[in-house]
Amino acid sequence: MAAFCAVDRQLLLDEIRYLEQVTTISPDEYDRRVEQLLPLLENADQPLLRRWQRLDCWRWPEDTEEYFGHNIEIASAYIESAMQAEDTSAIADLLACRGWYYSTSGFVDAAMEDFNRAIELAKSLDDIRLIADVLSLRGEQYAYQGELALGLKDLLDAQKHYERLSEPFYIKGNLSSIANTYRRLGDYTRALEYLNQVLDDTSKETSFEDYILFRDQIALVYEDMHKYQEALDIYQESLTFYQEQKDEEAVAFSQVNIGGLKNAMGQFAEAIPYLKAAEAYFKNSPNPGTNGLILLYLGQAFNGLGRHEEALALFNASEPLIKQDRNRRFLEWLLLDKATALAGLERWTAAYKTLEAYVSNHKRLDQNLRKQQTARLQVEFDVAQREAENQRLKAQTQLQQERVSALEERRRWQVLALALAFGSILFLLLLLLSYRQVKRSKRLHYLALTDELTGLPNRRRMFFLGEEMTRDALNNGTAFSILVLDVDYFKRINDSHGHAIGDEVLKAIAPISLGAVRGGDYIGRTGGEEFMALLPGTNLKQAVVVAERIRHQLEQADFSHLADDLRVTISIGAGQLKKSDGGLNRLIKRADNALYKAKENGRNRVQASD
Ligand code: GH3
Ligand code: MG
Ligand code: MG
Repeated sequence: MAAFCAVDRQLLLDEIRYLEQVTTISPDEYDRRVEQLLPLLENADQPLLRRWQRLDCWRWPEDTEEYFGHNIEIASAYIESAMQAEDTSAIADLLACRGWYYSTSGFVDAAMEDFNRAIELAKSLDDIRLIADVLSLRGEQYAYQGELALGLKDLLDAQKHYERLSEPFYIKGNLSSIANTYRRLGDYTRALEYLNQVLDDTSKETSFEDYILFRDQIALVYEDMHKYQEALDIYQESLTFYQEQKDEEAVAFSQVNIGGLKNAMGQFAEAIPYLKAAEAYFKNSPNPGTNGLILLYLGQAFNGLGRHEEALALFNASEPLIKQDRNRRFLEWLLLDKATALAGLERWTAAYKTLEAYVSNHKRLDQNLRKQQTARLQVEFDVAQREAENQRLKAQTQLQQERVSALEERRRWQVLALALAFGSILFLLLLLLSYRQVKRSKRLHYLALTDELTGLPNRRRMFFLGEEMTRDALNNGTAFSILVLDVDYFKRINDSHGHAIGDEVLKAIAPISLGAVRGGDYIGRTGGEEFMALLPGTNLKQAVVVAERIRHQLEQADFSHLADDLRVTISIGAGQLKKSDGGLNRLIKRADNALYKAKENGRNRVQASD
């Protein structure tokens, strides 16, 4: 413990904070930074360690079986330690994390149990973000298992929460999950509507990966609509993209998609190489669903080529995996194909028995589906009603419309009921998607600490950081200074050039002032045209030098791209923490007084506090 000095703690905190916040980073770079941070953890205190553990738990693992098992173990250990510390928020987050690993490893019950507990805890904390994240994960899991109505309910609830938090990114991801559930329910029109809306909001230039992923989902709808060529074009495009990205896992998923599609198109010989390649990649994957489906697809291809013996062996290998994965839709598919293979081999009794199993499975599925359709209408009515309460003015017409369309749909549903049977591998990609989004949303969580205009830390964050630095300085007897900066005659800039130019000036101040400080220093925007700098390890004399540098660089800066005669100057008050300050507020007050003097003395100058 003794070896863990304040500098190390600060370094570790900065690094963890960075990893929590970063929104675009390559996996390699991420891993590299984690490597560097690990030695610092050895002596870290408990709160910091738990903060790291939450981050660590959600890191994307390798795909080998040991690694998945390893992740579950680690998550369990983290949960244990969070429970000892009675850190409810950490427990809930870590349970969701472990649930996700259980889910991707095929431990369906354990996953559900963790999700359920996580939701309960998140609700007790009233942590809307966490509630929404876990609902979304659980909704995907339900839908994957064929519990479509339950899945839809979770996803729609999650959507409400995300909308309340107004997180456009996550709203989009969750909408696509909802679309996917509608697809599985056979409502292709609605599925396409949602997906096209999501796609419209996704920039091809800046988020090509997301764009591709959403396109894949559209392909899946086309596939279900038997528009095979349209689907194939999209899958091929995705495959090429993932190959260029060298994203082997996504390549393998694309290959499975194409293989399955080629089967559906009757191009069995062409399907096999795609499926074999994917099989080789997923050989060590712990997810029974993926492997079961690949074997099933391969069997279909051999069946199609009249090679029933080989097909049968593949189906037999696939069956326990699919059963373990509890995917009744895949199972139905498998049984029918297996019966075909057996019939091809003239093993009539076995073929008949398999068909019997198919029929009874189908009946169960069918009953379940019908139940779900009723439940689904219930879910949608609930949602419609809640909305209606919120918007009384619109209520009448809206409910009317909902009723009409629900009636229409019920009729359509009866026809569609039998056509709904099959799903596809893309669920797994979606699990991946929802995971990535949870991870990203965790990062977005912290964006509320950034000033939108300048990209600098905002007032809240600066005060938080400043208080930490004050505490460290008081504990360790090290120097700590701050600067408060205020643009001179900013009102005039606004008045003569317009508010928009004023904003541009504020934006330009950020890089200029950052260029004048050291690595460990922080500059943030604390108000309209007011900024603050936090300078740990800096005494008053040094702080004045820094301030003078900022003032000078701003005075020299060229703003002619904004307006011809535009000049910008700034006044700065500097203060060093004294023991008698006791805390940050008093220090800020003294620096503010110095700023006031700088203004009084003619502006465009630096004033040190007494
Ligand atoms: P002084 O040298 O005494 O600081 O003069 P000043 O005009 O800068 O002082 P004052 O604090 O009276 O005016 C600040 C102005 O900054 C008022 C407000 O309209 C403007 N302002 C505050 N926030 C923003 C913003 O985000 N964008 C723009 N363009 N203007 C802002
Ligand atoms: Mg001001
Ligand atoms: Mg001002």
